[in-house]
Amino acid sequence: MHTARPDPATPPTGREPGHADAAPDPTAEVVDLCRDLLRIDTTNTGDNDTSAGERRAAEYVAEKLAEVGVAAEIHESAPGRANLIARIPGVDPGRDALLVHGHLDVVPADPDEWSVHPFSGEVRDGYLWGRGAIDMKDFDAMVLAVVRHWQRTGVRPPRDIVLAYTADEEAGSDYGAHFLVQQHRDLFDGCTEAVGEVGGFSYSISDAQRLYLIETAEKGLDWMRLHARGRPGHGSFVHDDNAVTALAEAVARIGRHRFPLTVTPTVRAFLTELSDVLGVELDPDDPETAIAKLGPIANIIGATVRSTANPTRLAAGYKDNVIPGRATATIDCRSLPGQSELLERQLRELVGPDIEIEYIQRQPALETTFDGDLVDAMSAALRAEDPGARPVPYMLSGGTDAKAFAQLGMRCFGFAPLRLPADLNFSALFHGIDERVPVDGLQFGVRVLDRFLRNC
Ligand SMILES: [Zn+2]
Repeated sequence: MHTARPDPATPPTGREPGHADAAPDPTAEVVDLCRDLLRIDTTNTGDNDTSAGERRAAEYVAEKLAEVGVAAEIHESAPGRANLIARIPGVDPGRDALLVHGHLDVVPADPDEWSVHPFSGEVRDGYLWGRGAIDMKDFDAMVLAVVRHWQRTGVRPPRDIVLAYTADEEAGSDYGAHFLVQQHRDLFDGCTEAVGEVGGFSYSISDAQRLYLIETAEKGLDWMRLHARGRPGHGSFVHDDNAVTALAEAVARIGRHRFPLTVTPTVRAFLTELSDVLGVELDPDDPETAIAKLGPIANIIGATVRSTANPTRLAAGYKDNVIPGRATATIDCRSLPGQSELLERQLRELVGPDIEIEYIQRQPALETTFDGDLVDAMSAALRAEDPGARPVPYMLSGGTDAKAFAQLGMRCFGFAPLRLPADLNFSALFHGIDERVPVDGLQFGVRVLDRFLRNC
């Protein structure tokens, strides 16, 4: 039956809804929403003058929420650096709120390297292609699809859900999550738990079984700059106080160093579960041997059993025949939970007393336990949509906006559910060429999120 009222449920995409009085299927709509977001170039260059796309993306999300009666606020940290916040009231206002957060920015993409244009949002071979397809406009669109569906059908979540769509995650979140936490912490009143990237994706064990990796821990960010000082001089003389030599020696020592193995509760639980499901011995007390047996996810898990320090930049000198008075290097360090101070001491020992260490970024690692009602709700939603699902906790070697939200005392999880084909090298798609998301995986994610958030 057709109705004459202006239907807020009709997406302005020109797509013909089946029945005017039936709400559009969120699993169909998510593809349109994700494609629209992919077509908005939100490249985060790290430079405010060229990151204008975030504003357009935030306005797009605001418009999609407004269509179904959800009011959103946009907070700019700098012109164009837009962050969107909305609160969906829950049935029980006495309960703590849940934060659901996704970033809108993406890392740069060079169209010459891609099979499709990275901002075309093309659907091809069962995938939706584009920069941000898995990091993380997929989740942004899934959440939007679920909320729009609820608003149209009168569903209310059990408790308040705060939605945050942030800027600047790809350049350290200073203009995004950190800005919100520092300047607008009242927006997160009552939020004690949070879900965002990078977790909830599947890793196939067999046709019948898939692990779903739920992020319960994140390594810390400990980015530092080394400064070596020496005596400037003529390049032709005998010289025993050369800043470049001193720096190079320190950098080489750091680059070759292997920090001690530490198996955290998260990694121990992961290896134990995996060992059980594979029927292969993965001894958490011999993590290197265990990780060598993991195949495609060895590089994800291998980085979570020790702190790491990788030299990434070097700078010194201004002329071929002049010995400079100073030289600098940047070291990308990632500390295990509770090991930031230890890592600092170890690095000071490695570089020696004459080289100065300056921190550029220092954000502590996170780790929470894999238990409680929220974890149960995630697991139940996954199992309902995939009977072969086996949810396991894991630690992310990188960092996300969760680091900012954890400062407000929230327990943070990575849960952006995706069922992936067994042969897809998922980790290679992050910031990679031909980033794409399986359309059926995206639709699976909507169904899982819908179930999960109804029972959170
Ligand atoms: Zn991301």
